[in-house]
Amino acid sequence: MLPGAPFLERSEGRLCLQGHDLDALARRFGTPLYVYSRASMLAAAAAYERALAGRPHLLCYAMKANSSLAVLQTFAHAGLGFDIVSGGELARVLAAGGDPSKIVFSGVGKTPAEMRAALEAGVKCFNVESLTELRRLSEVATAAGRRAPVSLRVNPDVDARTHPYISTGLKGNKFGIAHEEAVQAYRLAASLPGLHVTGIDCHIGSQITRIEPYLDALDRLLDLVEAVEAQDIALHHVDLGGGLGITYTDEQPPDASELVAAMLARLDARGHGQREVLLEPGRSLVGNAGVLLTEVLVLKPGDAKNFCIVDAAMTDLMRPAMYEAWMAIEPCHVGDRPALTWDVVGPVCESGDWIGRDRALAVAEGDVLAVLSAGAYGMSMASNYNTRARAAEVMLDGEQAHLIRARETVSELFRDERLLPG
Ligand SMILES: *Cc1c(COP(=O)(O)O)cnc(C)c1O
Repeated sequence: MLPGAPFLERSEGRLCLQGHDLDALARRFGTPLYVYSRASMLAAAAAYERALAGRPHLLCYAMKANSSLAVLQTFAHAGLGFDIVSGGELARVLAAGGDPSKIVFSGVGKTPAEMRAALEAGVKCFNVESLTELRRLSEVATAAGRRAPVSLRVNPDVDARTHPYISTGLKGNKFGIAHEEAVQAYRLAASLPGLHVTGIDCHIGSQITRIEPYLDALDRLLDLVEAVEAQDIALHHVDLGGGLGITYTDEQPPDASELVAAMLARLDARGHGQREVLLEPGRSLVGNAGVLLTEVLVLKPGDAKNFCIVDAAMTDLMRPAMYEAWMAIEPCHVGDRPALTWDVVGPVCESGDWIGRDRALAVAEGDVLAVLSAGAYGMSMASNYNTRARAAEVMLDGEQAHLIRARETVSELFRDERLLPG
């Protein structure tokens, strides 16, 4: 089964997303091209919502995974909140129609200007990551005549040896307030005039494919909730972050419904069933809903390696270069050529510019390939290195294919630069 099924399927040799022929979309809109299935995104959100139904809850899409306006609009219409990490993301999500009262503001280095903008917009809460930030936020809020709602992002220090795929919830990460210091930090927060304590949160990592690390983190968090409330500081909500993995190759992450059911059962078992639950999924809402289409420019067979040079590069899709991530690559149209083993690489002048290594593919120059599971951390991480204009994006909505981002033009890339006088 293809990652992205049932929305992604092969029918009579042609790769289709939400019933649309991807080869035809590449010819119509050009390549490199991101294509997203709106139905797939909505189905992913609905799975979380169903599992949370009947509970006080808020699903906050972590928009850094894919922050294109039409993606944000899709989730805003579905009633979701948002997890933002910068003032830029705040402006973007407001422009897409996001409800500010459903926004949580995360991040280790918020500037006073970003704090002011978020206070002004009326965000649901600031996820605060240090004592300095608590003091600064209180000052900024006081000066603005407001009280900032805060939740402390706690680092649960979940044991890496048992759960090696966690990367942000350990001591030694830059994220969060250390578990041992959290009660002190809450005392400080409760004493500062510009703050109003509303919750607690953690986010333990990304592409997590097991339930146990979440339950370990939840237990650690609930220990703290009990310790903090023993100091007469009420915590309204518990935010368990995002991080649920998707299938790129043979990963078998739990369904959102399994994960949520396990979390809710643990909350109930420990007597916290009445609390509002927040989740911040990013990748699991959009990752499998998108593909990156790219045309084969040059086939360059060699003694050591065969190179399949395509028109998408690390500038369009950073994950392989940055994380050595494995992403499936499929021809959009299967012919009857024999398959050879290829390294699929981009045109950028870096050896790190590769999309897939040692892939068996039956390809010819001019063919269109699809990089699968590219809906998350694809376009949102794109750059202009090598003065490459960024890709266009298309959203499939029923029978319609909407261009949601025009292909960037080269003249836009240096529009704001100035030559020296003379
Ligand atoms: C990136 C991030 C998320 C989302 O992570 P995914 O792995 O995409 O689900 C959620 N919360 C915070 C604070 C993040 O930084």
